[in-house]
Amino acid sequence: MPISGLFGPNDFVTSDRGKPAVPARQPAAGSDPRGPALAWNGEVERATAHLYERVRGVIPPVEWPLMAPYVKAINELKAERGAVILAHNYQTPEIFHCVADITGDSLQLAIEASKVKADTIVQCGVHFMAETSKILNPDKRVLIPDSRAGCSLAASITGADVRLLRERFPGVPVVAYVNTSADVKAEVDICCTSSNALQVVESLDAPTVIFLPDQYLAKYVASQTRVKIIAWTGACEVHERFTGEELRAYRDADPTVQIIAHPECPPDVLAEADFTGSTAHMIKWVRDNRTRRVVMITECSMADNVQAELPDVEMVKPCNLCPHMKRITLQNIFESLLHLREEVVIDPGIAARARRSVERMINLKH
Ligand code: SF4
Repeated sequence: MPISGLFGPNDFVTSDRGKPAVPARQPAAGSDPRGPALAWNGEVERATAHLYERVRGVIPPVEWPLMAPYVKAINELKAERGAVILAHNYQTPEIFHCVADITGDSLQLAIEASKVKADTIVQCGVHFMAETSKILNPDKRVLIPDSRAGCSLAASITGADVRLLRERFPGVPVVAYVNTSADVKAEVDICCTSSNALQVVESLDAPTVIFLPDQYLAKYVASQTRVKIIAWTGACEVHERFTGEELRAYRDADPTVQIIAHPECPPDVLAEADFTGSTAHMIKWVRDNRTRRVVMITECSMADNVQAELPDVEMVKPCNLCPHMKRITLQNIFESLLHLREEVVIDPGIAARARRSVERMINLKH
């Protein structure tokens, strides 16, 4: 069924809704003392040759000498520091395949991080992901190479907005997508990912649920359930750019092509797709089906990462890049490990309440 209501910041103009938390940038610590060592030479070429094999299909040979010195330095520094690097599926191939220890969607990363012995985590992804890692790993040092790596969804809503929604809809449970700040997670009943959103909504056993902040994911969930969904006006600036017309053009050009799309896309896009699923489910779909040509309707680095793993599948990439994800580079990962910055800090009271919402989701039976 369609969603039952759509609310946004303008519905609460008379109240102080606060501002989305924007972390302060930590100052850069001087010049890089290892700078002169980061040069391409025979030693770097030999030490990184096995890693280049993983990305040969998506990184041209002419670009590798610019990346390899950082890849080698990061891997050495990571071992020295006893750190672990988490990389989201939207990170570029040289990060995803050559320096990351754990890869996946935001939740997979945070859960896996809680199982490792390393006491320093470097999060290659956006700020809410680093916060989720800190929420689940409060005793570990969590670093993000550039804390300005935000997210249009996380920026669309504040904890104060959630409190105002609760006042307007007393007794209605609130589900927050993990693409939210710790401040928002602290105010809701339970979190969800794009993999488990439907299961989480139905687990509440309520006739109506407030689902925030992604209006498109909310519409997708509403189309799959009898639960009434009240949504928020947030949207992913990457996925909302796709159109149904664009997908029809791909199919007209090659009627055998398979189109797979992320549920953060608008409904007319999902209506044209052969499969809709989270990033983890999209990757599994490609691995399981191994069709000749796949159009992957999501952030385009993920198609590069899958292409590197499965060279026999031709990935068609409508190249919508997430500018926030692209703030993370080999250079700032290196600087982050070298200077142990920028550390993610969350008020302990907010972190404890946010942890309750995230853990309630994790503990749902699958
Ligand atoms: S791709 Fe969209 S949802 Fe993901 S971090 Fe970028 S803006 Fe946020």
